[in-house]
Amino acid sequence: MTTSETLFARAQELIPGGVNSPVRAFRAVGGAPIFMQSAQGAWLTDVDGNQYVDFINSWGPMILGHAPEVVLDAVRTALPHSLSFGAPTRREVELAELLTAMVPSVEKVRLVNSGTEATMSAVRVARGYTGRAKILKFEGCYHGHGDAFLIAAGSGALTLGAPDSPGVTQGVAQDTLTVPYNDLAAVEAAIAANPDQLAAIIIEPVVGNMGLVEPSLGFLAGLRALCTQHGIVFIFDEVMTGFRLAPGGAQQLYGVVPDMTTLGKIIGGGLPVGAYGGRADIMNQVAPAGKVYQAGTLSGNPLATAAGLAQLRYLHEHPEVYEQLEATSARLADGTRQIAKELGLNYTVNRVGSMFSLFFTPEPVHNLEDAKKADLPAFGRYFHAMLKRGIYLAPSQFEALFVSTAITDELVEKYLLACRESLQEAHAP
Ligand code: PMP
Repeated sequence: MTTSETLFARAQELIPGGVNSPVRAFRAVGGAPIFMQSAQGAWLTDVDGNQYVDFINSWGPMILGHAPEVVLDAVRTALPHSLSFGAPTRREVELAELLTAMVPSVEKVRLVNSGTEATMSAVRVARGYTGRAKILKFEGCYHGHGDAFLIAAGSGALTLGAPDSPGVTQGVAQDTLTVPYNDLAAVEAAIAANPDQLAAIIIEPVVGNMGLVEPSLGFLAGLRALCTQHGIVFIFDEVMTGFRLAPGGAQQLYGVVPDMTTLGKIIGGGLPVGAYGGRADIMNQVAPAGKVYQAGTLSGNPLATAAGLAQLRYLHEHPEVYEQLEATSARLADGTRQIAKELGLNYTVNRVGSMFSLFFTPEPVHNLEDAKKADLPAFGRYFHAMLKRGIYLAPSQFEALFVSTAITDELVEKYLLACRESLQEAHAP
């Protein structure tokens, strides 16, 4: 048995499914998850000493690769000054200044500890602000594990085939409407069927959680117009796309400004952080300025703000990072598409900036129903073939690849070679 397998056996005795987050299990692809020891730049090293090129990057936040000096230095400097105060600190103000400067929609912001907290809080504020109960989300979008979002959810909830979770009450479920992604007419119909009842529409402006799906032309602008017309709070969940697709996230890339934005992981540089923000008049509803309650003992944690500030400052001061990520990702995604074509598979590759997915279907993927047409057993074989060749992908068809600045030309070549061999292996008779 490998050390990973031994640890997994011990973990399964004590931790549900052996993992602290379902997406880490290899349920969809078979086999045991790999336990990690350390990482540097593009490379992960597992507890058995095997190395892998990382295309998950902690599900997004390690945009500069692992253990970048600029972030480690900031944490080292902060470390001796206590790990938590439960009182305000200078860096929280500096992080708020940077977030509001970089993200177009964010005039005021509150720090929390995860993306889940950010989305749960944003919806509460939207409900408080509008005095309405219902929200609308899109099938296959994942917004964390808050009750209201575990309806037709993406990511692990989708991978495990349990889109609706036991434990979510009927009462909660009936306040969440779901419609297909990229279907503006369905949104209009839902609004018409629930007049003056919708508090918020929440969306992944580019979806990462059913695999990578981009908004069709005019979709986000159409939603923006509908929200304005009907007094609905428009929320962009940019937990994955924020600071990744552009310095100001998807809202900058597409030129559509929501009323509120949720952020996560990337703004902590790998430490646990989230944030929600938006228009000042909406955010002024939050306690103690207003009556919508939301709190957190560890919110604004001094190490997390040190890491996050260092990473965001770096991104702010080095816009060339985005050109590099675009060029690397284009080579990876275009190369993948080309290889699939040469092998006669004609699989769909969707990409926006440094996020992309290879869907195991030749048909275009614009929504969840399209994504579900993928050949999942073939994906499972491909995943293991890639892993064997030292390429670490998410263990599910319904996730994106995240590219970091640590991916060199040489690593692009390594990935493309592995991709060709693995696609062949996955389809061998
Ligand atoms: N929103 C989106 C778009 C996400 O991708 C995720 C997690 N991947 C979340 C919210 C939840 O974030 P967390 O896992 O930090 O709670």
